[in-house]
Amino acid sequence: MGVYLDYNASAPIEKEVLEIMIDVYQNTIGNPDSRTHNYGDNARSVVESARKQVAELLSVDSTEVYFTSGATESNNIAIRGLVDYAKTSGKNHIITTSIEHKAVLETIKHLADIGFEVDIVSPGNSGRVDSGSILNLIKDNTLLVSVMHVNNETGIIQPVEEIGDSLRNSEVFFHIDATQSCGKLVDEIRKMHYDMLSFSSHKMGGPQGVGVLVLRRRNGKRIPVKAITYGGQQENGIRPGTVPVALVAGCGEACRLAQNNYVENNAHSKIIKSMILNELQESGLDYQINGDIKYTIDSTLNIALKGISSEALMLSTKNYCGISNGSACTSKTYSPSYVLKAMGLTDEVISSSIRISWGHQSELEDIKSNLHRLLEIAYSMIN
Ligand code: PMP
Repeated sequence: MGVYLDYNASAPIEKEVLEIMIDVYQNTIGNPDSRTHNYGDNARSVVESARKQVAELLSVDSTEVYFTSGATESNNIAIRGLVDYAKTSGKNHIITTSIEHKAVLETIKHLADIGFEVDIVSPGNSGRVDSGSILNLIKDNTLLVSVMHVNNETGIIQPVEEIGDSLRNSEVFFHIDATQSCGKLVDEIRKMHYDMLSFSSHKMGGPQGVGVLVLRRRNGKRIPVKAITYGGQQENGIRPGTVPVALVAGCGEACRLAQNNYVENNAHSKIIKSMILNELQESGLDYQINGDIKYTIDSTLNIALKGISSEALMLSTKNYCGISNGSACTSKTYSPSYVLKAMGLTDEVISSSIRISWGHQSELEDIKSNLHRLLEIAYSMIN
């Protein structure tokens, strides 16, 4: 099996998270929205404690936290949930970037199909969009700006802090997809201005199938997002459907762990990043880091190994390293990464690029030896 280096696709579940979930599955019977018995009350108290744990990690009020099935659903609600408001307010202009996850891009493209005006900003080869290029597009009918915090393919941190600061007193709603930064860039997220924030618990040691949408209040009022599915009043009407108690408890615990350990975890990831850069330097390979390294998070690198097909490399090194060459959500068949394309990289560079992503559970020596083997194999492919 080798070493798992695809944390951006899904990180391993934390032991403590699993223990809590098993306990909830075994001991908390019932639907948290049942009013008529103690079972419902108990399930509700598990959900509400988890909500507090999420709120504490993000420094928001727990009434601003809504549980969903994951970032895909959170992004859909954040964007499509504004359609009614757009109709009544006449604001129907949306600004986003070409490197967003498909859960944002395809949702916004759907709105373009039904008549919304959409501007999509590209980053250039630094991989980081320019905040000015986004802010300059704002006009009277701008409804929403949606920008991710950290890109899932390149690990490049986007200027959401600057964009948020500029939008602080404006009527334009600001949505951040923080799926790859939540639990890592904790201080940054805590002080940022945004109206909506999405993440999935499984990227930070929680279970798959649960996520969060934060809807901040403006002047004490929830922003005018509406549910996009119908069928129940759960999650204050924003996300109908029975709340999955054990998944939510696992998500809360992952947030609690991240809150306690993020400084240490980030330091560990940073050490791994320097080791990887060192191994690359000593490999004798001709390589480039895709995107400007000074903006990369400490848990991701996207690397072009010149002259080497990433597909061939991944096949021949499967037993050493579990890596990828793009987002798992679009990787059923190989097609050149739209993120790297939007950065202006050539098809040749793109087809030789791999994404390596890790986390605090990754063991330095384990990565070092397996990566060393991968780089040796890469070297033998062209020499
Ligand atoms: N946004 C980003 C930035 C992501 O990386 C992902 C997962 N790859 C998602 C959204 C979607 O998350 P999920 O598949 O858990 O809904």
